[in-house]
Amino acid sequence: MGIKVALVGNPNCGKTTLFNALTGTNQRIGNWPGVTIEKKEGKWKENAEVTIVDLPGIYSLSPYSLEEVIARNYLLTENPDVILNIIDGTNFERNLYLTTQLREMDIPMVVAINMADLLERNGSSIDLKKLTRELGCEIVSISALKGTGVSEAAKAAMRAASNNTTPILPVYENELEDTLKFLESKLPASVPQTQHRWYAVKLFEKDEEAVTHLDLDETTKAEIDARLAQVEKDKDDDTESIITVARYDLIEHITSNCLKKHSTGELSISGKIDRVVTNRILALPIFALVMWVVYYISIGTIGTWGTDFVNDTFFGEWILPGAASLLEGMGTADWLNSLVVDGAIAGVGAVLGFVPQMLVLFFLLSILEDCGYMARVAFIMDRVFRKFGLSGKSFIPLLVATGCGVPGIMASRTIEQDRDRKMTIMTTAFIPCSAKMPIVALIAGALFNNNPWVAFAAYFIGLGAVIVSGIILKKTRWFAGEAAPFVMELPDYHAPIAGNVLRSTWERGWSFIKRAGTVIFAASVIIWILNSLSVDGGFHYITEENGGASLLENIGNMFAWIFAPLGFGNWQATVSTILGLVAKEEVVGTFGTLSSMANADLAMEGDPTMYAVIASEFFAGSGLVGISFMIFNLLCAPCFAAMGAIKREMNNPKWTAFAIGYMCVFAYAMSLMTYQFGSWLVYGTGDIPGTIAATIVLVGMLYLMFRKPAAKEHAVSLAKSV
Ligand code: GDP
Ligand code: MG
Repeated sequence: MGIKVALVGNPNCGKTTLFNALTGTNQRIGNWPGVTIEKKEGKWKENAEVTIVDLPGIYSLSPYSLEEVIARNYLLTENPDVILNIIDGTNFERNLYLTTQLREMDIPMVVAINMADLLERNGSSIDLKKLTRELGCEIVSISALKGTGVSEAAKAAMRAASNNTTPILPVYENELEDTLKFLESKLPASVPQTQHRWYAVKLFEKDEEAVTHLDLDETTKAEIDARLAQVEKDKDDDTESIITVARYDLIEHITSNCLKKHSTGELSISGKIDRVVTNRILALPIFALVMWVVYYISIGTIGTWGTDFVNDTFFGEWILPGAASLLEGMGTADWLNSLVVDGAIAGVGAVLGFVPQMLVLFFLLSILEDCGYMARVAFIMDRVFRKFGLSGKSFIPLLVATGCGVPGIMASRTIEQDRDRKMTIMTTAFIPCSAKMPIVALIAGALFNNNPWVAFAAYFIGLGAVIVSGIILKKTRWFAGEAAPFVMELPDYHAPIAGNVLRSTWERGWSFIKRAGTVIFAASVIIWILNSLSVDGGFHYITEENGGASLLENIGNMFAWIFAPLGFGNWQATVSTILGLVAKEEVVGTFGTLSSMANADLAMEGDPTMYAVIASEFFAGSGLVGISFMIFNLLCAPCFAAMGAIKREMNNPKWTAFAIGYMCVFAYAMSLMTYQFGSWLVYGTGDIPGTIAATIVLVGMLYLMFRKPAAKEHAVSLAKSV
């Protein structure tokens, strides 16, 4: 009679290395039934009675990825004689999470602590005796790579299989245990006694796959739902999080008992910082404060001094007048002077003017990423996002998107669940990317005297848009269902490494500068041409004597009515918003060119700065109009490059159109409410039809946010079809 040993462990714990060490050449490689994930089986080279199966690497036994489903179905239905759980000893704590779940399966088990060679080198050790007492199964220390302990591990597995030594069930706190007992009592008679605990836990976790498998009758379902709802209310947390926390409490207990790190043993500095930084209450205020400081330095003070210097002195006093007088001296035609100075230099210069602010911003964000803080933020946001049915995994794309939306959208690939991935693709571009930041800095500079709150608000408006959209979309039947939990390792903090920070700052900054020299340059020339020609009274170049509305003005006016209810229904703001689709920097570039071209005609005192012209000419000097403009441009359809990324990742024309349409409608709704309600607050008066429209939009949004979610049945069947 043969013995079947299942190798189970996290990805990269050394399963395959151990498998090869145990089986030598004598192995069969195929695919798991129905899927193209490698299935490896082999005979132990010391005893052909023993078959070893290499299961896919997994972090947990939830049903969220194909690997997890394969592994747990194998364990539940193929009845292996023994689990050989491999733990990467250098990641002891994280690996124990899976072990805790395996203990609930009531299958004989042996734990092999792998990477013993590395542990020894680090000077860490794991107390095998104490760990045996905690887990109730045999523990072997091995190094799969060096081949030490490998044979002992297989022998221990044979012993466990023949003696049927199952590990001790993990015991949680009383209330949780009571609930689990209750759930066990509700299981159908068809479930074997040995799997009671497993299914009770799965019911507690609301594991869709397991719930469907159990096929409970309606009354039992209702009883269970009521009990779980009560638990969630008592604990103010969802059941899946409750049990995750309980498991980690247990793991913490085991680790503190059994693991001796080389370090002093007391809480590491990282741990101490994390106690404060990821604290349930303080985490969000600290995050807000950190971001405020980032924007205060970059958009409010130090970065701004640089930008003011580049805009007002470098371009305003040196380059623009210098180039103008140089060209005049050369006696070139007026139109050429204007093309070079007002068109190209003013357009490109307006974008380049923001380089100092952007560099400071990228520098600070790179520091936060490099030292490990941003990883904590993802962890913190997971808690916030989960409250709304979103996964913390969606936050990683958002982090990437603060640089550029394109890699941000591509980062959504790591999200296994299709519906969560689609939702993340749809909302990632709401986060202000580095090309949108100049719009924000421009509004802050031209209308708010560089108040850092503007940039801070822009960031949190983007984040708010993601959350609000998440709530709305989750209530629709396409996106209904629980969010996948998010397990991530928090690396220790370390002092930012100058090389890393500077490299990442420069990479972002350089791509910004490059676009100014290419796309923005080309767009500025085109804008200049369209704004220099007129068809009023015959096609002609506009001069002081021979005026008339420019082609650009005509084009802008064709669409300006669309934005009138948002407060910026003039042709200049319209044109720059539309050109923002080419590249978001072009919003600022357009203003640069248009303000430079308008400057000569204006009856403004002295020599007005770019900011002064933009504020008075395009925003009617109104901060409210500026904010409404900023919100629309932050949230509406992203640039062509990002739209292309959405198209690629959605891989479906309908979803692509829906995503982009959704962003535009959402942006319009937000701007409309901002401007219409804002008018009453700021001016004490407003537009009646506009206010009515904004009120309808508000009521509609509140309805979409607070209505009952789409039917659960649907969510389940959707999950099955994934
Ligand atoms: P799997 O993903 O669980 O199949 O892990 P692999 O067997 O592919 O191993 C992942 C990595 O860990 C490889 O680079 C192995 O060489 C390495 N590795 C595996 N076991 C040991 C070990 O005992 N000591 C050391 N130092 N490295 C190991
Ligand atoms: Mg492997």
